[in-house]
Parts: sequence; structure tokens; C-alpha cells
Amino acid sequence: MKVPFFNYPDVYLSDRDRFIEIFDSVCSKGAFILQEDLHFFEKELAEFAGVKYALGLGNATDALLLLYLAAGVTRGDEVLFCSHTMTATVAPLSLIGATPIPVEVGRDRTIDVESARSKVTEKTKAIIPTQLNGRVTNMDAVMAFAKEHDLIVLEDSAQALGAQFKGKGVGSFGLGGVISFYPAKTLGCFGDGGAILTNDSGMHERIGLLRDHGRDKDGETVCWGYNTRLDTVQAAFLRHKLKSFPEVIKRRRAIAGMYQEQLGGLSQLELPLPPDAGDHFDTFQNYEVVAERRDELKSFLAEREVGTIIQWGGKAVHQIEALQCNASLPATEKFFAGCLLLPLNASLTDEDVAYVCEQIRAFYS
Ligand SMILES: *Cc1c(COP(=O)(O)O)cnc(C)c1O
Repeated sequence: MKVPFFNYPDVYLSDRDRFIEIFDSVCSKGAFILQEDLHFFEKELAEFAGVKYALGLGNATDALLLLYLAAGVTRGDEVLFCSHTMTATVAPLSLIGATPIPVEVGRDRTIDVESARSKVTEKTKAIIPTQLNGRVTNMDAVMAFAKEHDLIVLEDSAQALGAQFKGKGVGSFGLGGVISFYPAKTLGCFGDGGAILTNDSGMHERIGLLRDHGRDKDGETVCWGYNTRLDTVQAAFLRHKLKSFPEVIKRRRAIAGMYQEQLGGLSQLELPLPPDAGDHFDTFQNYEVVAERRDELKSFLAEREVGTIIQWGGKAVHQIEALQCNASLPATEKFFAGCLLLPLNASLTDEDVAYVCEQIRAFYS
């Protein structure tokens, strides 16, 4: 038995004939950039996500840059973020001249608002929670905190399309959120792709200009801009995939339930919160455990052909020396000594999941 962490060919092979048809149809029309399938996809994506607007962009990292620019984050501003995230969450700030301020991770792997409170200065302009592993953080707490300190709220929801808090989806809480269509994300395309979701018409308009050289609908250049647009052919693939995406989420949540059931009894593992946890509707981009003797467990599983990953190469953003984003975050550092991602994707069978759990139980017995 072999359970790879992620089956990349399957992103395509799972529906190969249909994708070939879509490719041929879009390319035969010469519909490459900002064409019909992109506009339809944006409409369908916004509808799915329960927001007014969606804009397709080159990738989620570009989307974050445009989100900051459109929200008016500028030189000298400080932005609060959870250090348990991809560097991409705050990398665009280095281009803008703003400063990322790392804060602690909470029990649910998302931002700890109490830690954020202790980092506020007169320069703090925004807070950007990462909706990590397909979970929306407690946005009541984030919004109340932001109101108290007059901060802008943005979301790095690259991992969380379809996830909800109290029935509200990502991108709907503050000025907007980003989505990634990187192949291994829950809704993946065949290369790079991303989007911004927003309910704010001003954000929608500014991002629309920024992504296309500052040009408005009539092709008139009205400001400096950038070039980052989701390819129309990728949008066409994603339109097709979006139709079955609710099923994919259902399957991911079912797998998380299986892990909960089959590993819940082990005292050596701290599991993520289960799929039916209260106000949160999680989509399980990842299944992240905290394990005793993590490195040994990882090798043990590798020997038995079970692929696992330590997220972000095993370092929180503030622990990456080259980035000089220094802070002392003891809870996050402790977390990184034990965290591990188990395989969780729609290609897994029930037998695959049972095999992974069996091996983990064997390791600890
Ligand atoms: C994947 C990811 C990104 C970056 O997405 P790209 O589309 O690859 O640029 C940003 N933030 C988080 C939390 C991610 O998981």
C-alpha cells in the first residue's frame, strides 16, 4: 500500500477527456486573456462564495499585493498576521514598504487575537488573519478587535474557499480575501491561479484596474497598474471543477471525520478540531496534527509509503532568519516542534485513510 501526500497527476487525470475538450474549445476561439469564461467564472465563484464580487488573478500572492494596494496599505504601516502561515501572506508588504508584525497561533491553528492585541502600535493599519487549513478563524473576535483599534481587516483565505464562520464565507468579513488555485489547493487549476473575493465595490473597481495595467472597461488608462490576470483557459477548467466542488468539500470533511474517529484515542496526538465544531464550517485543505516524537513518526510513515509534510518547511515566518521578521512567539515555536500534515485530499480512498491510521497507531503502540 502507498499513500502519497498529494497525487498531482490526479488533478488532471480525474476528468481528462473533459479537460481536453475545454482546452480545445477555449483555445480554438483564441479566447486567451480576459474573455468570456473568465467573466462567467468570476460570477459563479462570487455566487458560490456568497460575496458580491470575484476577480480572477495570476495567483494568490499577486492577489495579496493587489488587496493591500487597493485597501490603501502604504509605506510605514504595520500589519498584524499569524506567524503560522506562508511567507506569501505578508511578502507583498516588502514591495510596499510596510512592516509585517507576527503574532501567535491559537489552538485552532489560526490567529490568536489576544496576542495581536499586545502588538498594536500607533502605526498598526491592518490585520490579516490566515484562514488556515480550510478553517475560518473566529471572525467575531477579529472584527471586534479591529473596530476597537480602527484597523482594516483583510483575509488570507488562499486555503479556505467554501469555509464559513457562523454561515458567512471567506472574503465577506472585511475588505476582501484571496483564494489560491494552486494545483494542490482544494480547488486547483493546472498551474498558477488566484482570485480576490470582496463585497466592496470600491475594492472591486480598484483591483480590476490594478490587474490590467490601470485600464478601465473602455481600455482607457486611468492609473498605474500591474499585470496579473487569471488565464481564460484556467478559468474554463475551474468553471467545470466548481460544479463538483461541494462534493469535494463533503469528501474532505468525511476524511477528517475518519481521522478523528480512528486517531481520537491516541494521547500522543493533538488532532485539529473535528468537522462538526460549532460555528465553524471547515473545508480541510489540510489535516494538521501535533505529534509527540514528530520527526520519528514522519520517518516511520515514510518507510511505510505514507507521505506527510511539515507545513512551511517547519518554520513559522518569524523563525525564517533571512526575512528578519523577528519576534518571540513561544506558543507558535512549540507548535512547530510537533506539527505534521497527514494526507487529506479527494483522491484518497477509505482504505488509504485506514492504512495511514493503522501505521500511526502501530508507531505509538
Ligand atoms: C498557497 C498559499 C498562498 C499563495 O498562493 P499562490 O497562489 O501559490 O500564490 C498564500 N497564502 C497561503 C496561506 C497559502 O496556503
